[in-house]
Amino acid sequence: MIICVNLWINAFFRIKGVALSKKILVVEDDEKNRELVRDVLKYYGYEVREAKDGAEGIKMAEEHMPDLILMDIQLPVMDGITAMMTLKNNPGTKGIKIIALSAFAMKGDKEEILEAGFDDYITKPLDTRQLPGIVKRHF
Ligand code: MN
Repeated sequence: MIICVNLWINAFFRIKGVALSKKILVVEDDEKNRELVRDVLKYYGYEVREAKDGAEGIKMAEEHMPDLILMDIQLPVMDGITAMMTLKNNPGTKGIKIIALSAFAMKGDKEEILEAGFDDYITKPLDTRQLPGIVKRHF
């Protein structure tokens, strides 16, 4: 019975185009933006964890080992670039893909962010129709 239900749930999420129970950590200090990202990702079947600053992000990443991290750049306590570099320099967490969430929209900013070590880049304000597609590319 449990197996049947699991198969059904898996089929349901496959229709939505998402593998079941992928964990995503959202590191974002802006509450509204964090809630928006969380709600969209949860709708698409992802398991979402949240952190409000870079240091908390690192702690949560080490604790929960997410499959993917969405990292804001401008964060209190520790900025997103430093937090990303810390995770990429840690053998335990360096395999986790990290996508930058950035309000920067200037030409060249994307290249700079990718050069710093991020795996991808999403601009804010967030396009909620685009977000699932960008996230899915990394699974
Ligand atoms: Mn911010």
